[in-house]
Amino acid sequence: MSKTIAAIATGNSVSGIGVIRISGDNAIEIAQKVFKAMDATPLSSLKGYTAKFGNVYSNGEKFDNAIALVFRAPKSYTGEDVVELSVHGGIFIVEKTLEAVLDAGASPAEAGEFTKRAFLNGKMDLTQAEAVATLISANGQEAAKASFNLLQGSLSNKISDVLDKIVSLSASMAAWVDYPDEEIPELDEKTLKDTLSSAENELKELLDNYESGMIMTEGVNTVIAGRPNAGKSTLMNMLSGKEKSIVTHIEGTTRDIVENSVRLGSLVLHLSDTAGLRESDDVVEAIGIKKALERIDTSSLVLAVFDSSRELDDDDKMLIDACKGKKAVAVINKTDLSPKIDTDIIEKNFESVVYISAKNNTGLKELETAVKNILGVEEFDSSAPLIANRRQKQCIQKAYENINEALSAAEIGLTYDAINVMIDSAVDELLTLTGKKATEEVVNNIFSRFCVGK
Ligand code: GDP
Repeated sequence: MSKTIAAIATGNSVSGIGVIRISGDNAIEIAQKVFKAMDATPLSSLKGYTAKFGNVYSNGEKFDNAIALVFRAPKSYTGEDVVELSVHGGIFIVEKTLEAVLDAGASPAEAGEFTKRAFLNGKMDLTQAEAVATLISANGQEAAKASFNLLQGSLSNKISDVLDKIVSLSASMAAWVDYPDEEIPELDEKTLKDTLSSAENELKELLDNYESGMIMTEGVNTVIAGRPNAGKSTLMNMLSGKEKSIVTHIEGTTRDIVENSVRLGSLVLHLSDTAGLRESDDVVEAIGIKKALERIDTSSLVLAVFDSSRELDDDDKMLIDACKGKKAVAVINKTDLSPKIDTDIIEKNFESVVYISAKNNTGLKELETAVKNILGVEEFDSSAPLIANRRQKQCIQKAYENINEALSAAEIGLTYDAINVMIDSAVDELLTLTGKKATEEVVNNIFSRFCVGK
C-alpha cells in the first residue's frame, strides 16, 4: 500500500481558488476528516467524478467553504483514489487546509510525485510525464502546442510504430535462428532492409526536427547590437511592448545588459539589450561594449541595428565584422527619417536585411519572417511529433545509430544473430525513452525537476 500524499496543486499566490490534492489509498478517508458536506453525505459513499459542497475543518472548527471532488482509482490523474479540495485561494487558507490534511494522516508530496505515480501506475509514459512539466512552463504558443501534442502521445505513438516494426523483425529473426528445425520461413533480405530503412528514416525525421523544435519551443538567445543611439532599446521596447530599457538621447546610456524575453510572432526571443558597440575610453562603457561583443559570440541570433539616418561609421563596420558567420539579421532602423546610410554595404554583408521604424512600430512582421528564415524554422510544423529535451534526443540518437549499424550489417550479409544484437540495443534505447526500461535513477531525475503539487 502506498502512502497517501498531499500538496497544494495551485500556485503560491493569492487567487480566487486554491486546490489541495490528496492521492493514495487513504485519500478519501483522510479528506473526510477535514471536509464535511453540507448535506452530511460522507465522501466515502461518493462515486468517482463526484463533487460535494461543504466546509473544511481544523481541530473541529470550520474555517472555509470548500468543494470536494472525488476520483476513484484507476480513473484519476495518478491512477489512485484522489480527492481535490477547492477552497478560497488565500495563501493562509490554502496552507491551513494542507496542514489539516497532513494532520489527518497524509504525507507531504515530493516534487513531481503525483505525476511520478501517474507514470508508475501506467497512466502515461515518460515522454508524456515530461510533457506535463514543459506544458506548465511553456512561455509561448508553440511551446504550449508542442507540449500538449507530446502529452497526447504524439512522440509515444511514433516511437511505438518504430518499436512494432523492429520488434517483430527481431522476433522473426530470432525464431528462425533458434528453431532451425521448425518450418519458419526465412526472412527475405528485402523485407529486412526495407523495415530497417523505414525505422531509420522515421527516427532521422525526428532528429532533423529537433533543432527547429527547440528554437520554437524553448526560444532563442538573441542579442540586439548596434552603435549607441541606433535604436536598440526602442526596438526592444517595441518587441516587449513595455518600457524595459531606458531610452535616451544621450549616447552610451544603455550600459548594462538588460535581460528580457519577448515574443516575435510565434517565436520567443531571450533578449539582451546591449550597450552600443562604440570603442570607448570610458572604462565603464568599455565594459559594456566588451560584454556586447561577447554576447554576439555566444548568442544564437543577432539583431544588428543600424541607424538609417546616419552614414555608416567605424562602429557600424565593427558590428558588420562581428556578425560574419553568425545567424544575424541587419535591422535598418529609423526609416521614417531621411536616409543617409549606404545600404549596399549592409545588403552585401548580411543574408537578411529588414527595414523598420522602431519608434513608429513598423516592420515587425518582416522582422519575424526574416528571423524565421535565418533560423530555418519558417516551415516548422508544430503538430508533428517533436523531441522535447536532451534525454529524449539521446535515446533516439542512439537507437538511430544502432539501426543504422544493423542496416550496414544486413548489407554486408552478417548473420541474423549479429544483426539482432544491434536491433535489440535500439529497442532498449526506445524503451528507455518511453520509460518501460528506464532506470530508477533516470525516473527520479526527471521527476525531481517538477514542482511540488504536480
Ligand atoms: P540605443 O542607444 O541604441 O538603445 O538607442 P535608443 O533606443 O535609446 O534610441 C536613441 C534615440 O533614437 C531615441 O531618441 C529614440 O527615440 C530614437 N529612435 C529610435 N528608433 C527610432 C525610429 O525608428 N525613428 C526615429 N525617428 N527615432 C528613433
